[in-house]
Amino acid sequence: MTHRKKLIAGNWKMNKTPADAVALAREIVAAAGQRTDVDIVICPPFTATESVGKVLDGSTVKLGAQNLHPEKSGAFTGEISPDMLRALFVSHVILGHSERRALFGETDAFINLKVLSALKNQLRPIFCVGETLAEREAGATLKVVQTQVEAGLEGVGREAAADLIIAYEPVWAIGTGKVATTAQAQEVHAFIRMLLAKLFTEPVAQKIRILYGGSMKPANAPELLAQTDIDGGLIGGASLEARSFGELITAAAAK
Ligand code: PEP
Repeated sequence: MTHRKKLIAGNWKMNKTPADAVALAREIVAAAGQRTDVDIVICPPFTATESVGKVLDGSTVKLGAQNLHPEKSGAFTGEISPDMLRALFVSHVILGHSERRALFGETDAFINLKVLSALKNQLRPIFCVGETLAEREAGATLKVVQTQVEAGLEGVGREAAADLIIAYEPVWAIGTGKVATTAQAQEVHAFIRMLLAKLFTEPVAQKIRILYGGSMKPANAPELLAQTDIDGGLIGGASLEARSFGELITAAAAK
């Protein structure tokens, strides 16, 4: 089996002024030290991208964004293009987060354009999928995830696919304190890897990291991260504090 280096990514959402973001980024850089056994990404809000990028310069922590617009430039008031992110040395971008889907009406088709644009512009997508509670209770989890994966990745070539990072985030577990059981999470992760193998071949699927997201905390991380197909975490709440985020990095390194 291919060894996949674990990845811990922090999604700060709409939190932290630039000054607060710089302070947190400094603490995270200190907590990360020079470690290279885990990949670490932090995704501050756009207003702090540049200042946090300066803090990360020379560290092992990579800079991510929380969204992008697929076009290069133009009349898209309020949006941020891939070129703008690249100019600030952003390397990763969260796409298709359930909050963007639910609160801002992002469709699978629009998310697909973003994924294709990110890959074309040398940004690594952290592409999020996951079912709602109603969908899980209706027994539709795998069907929903399959539709999101297939629609969101349409047109992605086999070579570019190796740059993908997928995040499985059951919507009912995000910010609720309700974490998926390890069995629930592993089942969906293995299913996603099977879909990736169908789309891109088995060797490519074995290279793609699939993160779990949804109330991951230092207390529940070791068990989740020990699962065969869980290759790291996309962390919301616990990424807003250097101590808990640092503990998650340590937990990932131990696996
Ligand atoms: C997220 O929003 O991606 C997330 C996983 O949030 P939390 O860790 O707070 O559940």
